[in-house]
Amino acid sequence: MANRVINKTDIAEFFVGLIARYRVFAPVRQKDMTNFREISAPDQIDLSLSNTTLSPKSIMLPQSESMLEFTLDRTAERAGILQEIKTDRTPRVIVGIRPCDARAFQLLDLNFDTPSHRDPWWVWRREETALVGLACNAPCNTCFCTSVGSGPFATDGLDLLLIDGPDELVVQVITDKGAKLLNEAGIEAEASEAQTETVAALQESSLQSIKSLVPAESLMQQETKALFDSEFWEEVQFACINCGVCTFVCPTCWCFDIQDEVCKSSGVRLRNWDSCMFPLFTLHGSGHNPRTQKLQRVRQRFMHKLKYFPDKYHRGVACVGCGRCIQQCPVNIDIRKVFLLMNDFKV
Ligand code: SF4
Ligand code: SF4
Repeated sequence: MANRVINKTDIAEFFVGLIARYRVFAPVRQKDMTNFREISAPDQIDLSLSNTTLSPKSIMLPQSESMLEFTLDRTAERAGILQEIKTDRTPRVIVGIRPCDARAFQLLDLNFDTPSHRDPWWVWRREETALVGLACNAPCNTCFCTSVGSGPFATDGLDLLLIDGPDELVVQVITDKGAKLLNEAGIEAEASEAQTETVAALQESSLQSIKSLVPAESLMQQETKALFDSEFWEEVQFACINCGVCTFVCPTCWCFDIQDEVCKSSGVRLRNWDSCMFPLFTLHGSGHNPRTQKLQRVRQRFMHKLKYFPDKYHRGVACVGCGRCIQQCPVNIDIRKVFLLMNDFKV
């Protein structure tokens, strides 16, 4: 489909139209952080940062979500029955999602939408949400998306890709869902040859600016047990304080915990994000815990992302190179160095 254009003077009108028809989520600055929030006016949107502090994962998989409700009142009509809590299923649009974060949703699909199990909460959000991406003209120095199957102008998983040109947004139309958004807004003007050439130049300059590269070509060939037993984990885990930040900011970490909360005779069943970096994560009901040591937990995080996941799904590593864990780890543990250690490991 041909690229279209939105003049910069018309962008606010485009967003107003989206907000009138959909629930719209976009990056919003709040003090020192920028995160995805539902917006009600175009001036709330802040597209100036390369990466939001948290990924947009929480729009699809909320950090805490009440899924089911029940009563402990044995005389109630619904006694003993778990009921789904009604949610607002108005169609939604995520605006300003970066290509790496859109690819992360595709990797999470491998866990939440499988031939044997379709998580209903994940599936309805994926089906009801259009993704309007924003190409990265100026990636951060911690970005390494091009080494792990994505790129600053990649279109995987997106419906539209906005490219920020000098006087206009050039819009790459990727799916019918994306074309519908533009048609509803009356955006029909096609990009000129000069505008298309500008996009190509922006893409080339963005690709050239990515200096962080990680080796992943030998990971699949590495022997799992030998990697697991390697001595380098001692060095990797040394400074970790098991704060869990790396997993909470990561767009591809999907672990959660299910809990029941009861107040008087009413209860709700919640799903909350959890983290393999927490000591209680693997505590069994019996009291046994197979990962009591920090080294075991740090090793699990990296082995899962860089070895177990690619071996199981053959879709590359469970990392999209967004660099958030590198930027936000309080003790500077850097996944790029772990890539190197694991990829170059020799028995
Ligand atoms: S953010 Fe850093 S210190 Fe915190 S759990 Fe992750 S690796 Fe450890
Ligand atoms: S592991 Fe780190 S760099 Fe990779 S996707 Fe997660 S937060 Fe981003």
